[in-house]
Amino acid sequence: MTVTLSSPYTLTALGEFGLISRIASRVAPHESVITGIGDDAAVTALTPGMRLLTSTDMLLENVHFRRAWHHPHTLGRKSLAVSISDIAAMGGIPRWALLSVAIPSDLPLDFIDDFMRGFLELASEYNVTLIGGDTCSSRSGVTISVTIMGEQSPDLIVCRSGARPDDDIWVTGTLGDAALGLTLVEGFNSSQPPDRCRSLSGVEGVDFLLSRLLNPTPRVSVALALAEAGVATAMIDVSDGIRADFGHIAELSGVGGTLLIADLPLSDMFRSLTADLPVIPYYHAISGGEDYEICFTADYSDREKIADCAKKCGIAATRIGIVTKFSGVKVLNRDGTPFTARTEGFNHFT
Ligand code: ADP
Ligand code: MG
Repeated sequence: MTVTLSSPYTLTALGEFGLISRIASRVAPHESVITGIGDDAAVTALTPGMRLLTSTDMLLENVHFRRAWHHPHTLGRKSLAVSISDIAAMGGIPRWALLSVAIPSDLPLDFIDDFMRGFLELASEYNVTLIGGDTCSSRSGVTISVTIMGEQSPDLIVCRSGARPDDDIWVTGTLGDAALGLTLVEGFNSSQPPDRCRSLSGVEGVDFLLSRLLNPTPRVSVALALAEAGVATAMIDVSDGIRADFGHIAELSGVGGTLLIADLPLSDMFRSLTADLPVIPYYHAISGGEDYEICFTADYSDREKIADCAKKCGIAATRIGIVTKFSGVKVLNRDGTPFTARTEGFNHFT
């Protein structure tokens, strides 16, 4: 059978270099990229005076995503979004990405095309150019690795290590949506996801929660605005839950913190979908990952400036606690008692 490169039906027929050409042909050129996909290394022009920010992340099938219920288009978007979020969390400007994939040779070409459509769509929304990667075959499952590069001038970069006692602890957007979305889908029997999806997507608010989980928005503009305003003393993106992620700030800053459970920002959809429960399932908001909001600390005198940054970027910023001298992260109920997930009955949610 003869298969031409221009009309391949399968990945095997296309081959590694056919696939790379197929990807390269869809990448829009950018003035900062002198040599992109195709050479031994990419050549890019850094803006003079800027520092290079680099971060890499892996997404493994059945660990980070399930092919059965993560549409390749949103998977492509999310693969890059989580990396862009890391650059945002430094106050950086995302610029270039490398994409490495290990794929089973029987993976439908449509999957790769849809994945790349999502990846490159998000790249163009954030002015990021794909400049290279690696492609190999996998004997079990899809593995995706994205390396992102960004830049920022040295005085505007915000690290995890700068929080000071008495700083306010802030978070953008809302917390717990992705985790609640996951609770809704994790009942998926992977052999029957479409039915489950159909039954869920009729319920108001579920599509919103699922999109927070499957198609997150990296908070680049607000993080950049906070960095440029010089107000954030420390910053991190919320990928593992606010308690854990603020914990990283606390540890690297040599401080602790108190988070107030009743102050955590919850979306209207989160509230309405959990309205019938005996208690609000705050566990999702405090420990649920993958919201990709930005948690930052700032002096109390900068509250107004922060409100301006948030307003300008069209996103909420909420004070959720206070940095303390003493190490450890405490989570308190409104009455000052320690919050424990066991008391709130989140596991009754079905
Ligand atoms: P090498 O043998 O030097 O590792 P490759 O044959 O792996 O080079 O890659 C050829 C070119 O294609 C390089 O520029 C590489 O960065 C790019 N590339 C490979 N795989 C991908 C991919 N999945 N996405 C984008 N670029 C890729
Ligand atoms: Mg290679």
